[in-house]
Amino acid sequence: MDQIIREDLDAIRGSIDPRAFQGKSVMVSGGSGFLGSWICDTLIGLDSRIICVDNLSTGVFENIDHLKGVKGFEFEKADVCTYSRSPKVDMVFHLASRPAPEDYQKHPVETALANATGADRMLDLARKNDARVFYASSSEAYGDPEVFPTPESYEGKVNPLGPRSSYEEGKRFGEALCKAYHDEYGLDVRIARLFNSYGPRLRAEGLYGRAISRFILQALRGDDITVFGDGSQTRSFCYVTDTVSGSLLFMSLDRSSDLVLNIGAKEECKILDLAESIKRLAFSESSIDFLPVPAGDHMRRLPDTGRTEKLLRWTPSTRLDVGLERTLKWFSSKKTSLPGPF
Ligand code: UDP
Repeated sequence: MDQIIREDLDAIRGSIDPRAFQGKSVMVSGGSGFLGSWICDTLIGLDSRIICVDNLSTGVFENIDHLKGVKGFEFEKADVCTYSRSPKVDMVFHLASRPAPEDYQKHPVETALANATGADRMLDLARKNDARVFYASSSEAYGDPEVFPTPESYEGKVNPLGPRSSYEEGKRFGEALCKAYHDEYGLDVRIARLFNSYGPRLRAEGLYGRAISRFILQALRGDDITVFGDGSQTRSFCYVTDTVSGSLLFMSLDRSSDLVLNIGAKEECKILDLAESIKRLAFSESSIDFLPVPAGDHMRRLPDTGRTEKLLRWTPSTRLDVGLERTLKWFSSKKTSLPGPF
């Protein structure tokens, strides 16, 4: 496994009490995706048994290839929406969903259903086992927010017919379904609203690309960096170690007073500044190409993480420049196997 990932996994594991996961059977849907594979890797190292379910629509087998044959790890290529087995599990992480805006807008039905039917499959499996559930919701559940930093109590500003609605409303419905299982069956559910996470394994190519991974790939290749609009829109980018440790700390609480928590970074960054930082860190000669803003893009995203920090005694600790440097290093080490032009 790559050096950067190995070091980062050690950092995550060092922040978690292993007893919460040792010997537990854990279902991870979307386990070969970006965050899913980090969760599988972390938990295998904490002596959990993992069933990783993924239809490989956006997740890539390469992310979990090294776990093949490792004791306690099982991979099942299956669609979470039609998943019908009922293995014994203590915990369920539901992460299966297409996450990249341009990609999920090409597959809106699949995206909405992964967070509706797929969530139902996973919640039902958890109910049969009396297992604890982690639902990977998103800052997109807030839509285009008007309150910053955005607390969990903010109800959102979402257009059910907007360009991003399959994902935004999908995540909102997924949350509502978690609450329904909680209220009706007493299921122990933990909903994490994850704000733009990044790091090694974030897909970069074509429609799957996210701002950070795409800009890094473009910078490394000397291609134009594609900034949408004037780049004044902001995001708060959370390095993967912070996202995963926050998520696992949430799942390791014996009891949680809160059904939902924001997990994200507190540093707000303009997209143009991000592009320039990546260019500088990569010593890249790339130009910046200003392209039209895609419909439905949001201007600003910044979480209020006060509740999360208090409840989990967690704080996102990786500065953006440090996380970018590590991600860039990882992508550079893959240079020969980087995906083709897009
Ligand atoms: N973005 C951009 N160029 C790209 C990809 C993204 O300027 O090639 C911008 C996009 O407009 C958005 C931000 O970067 O405002 C973050 O985009 P991303 O796709 O990573 O995720 P989002 O937060 O929009 O879900």
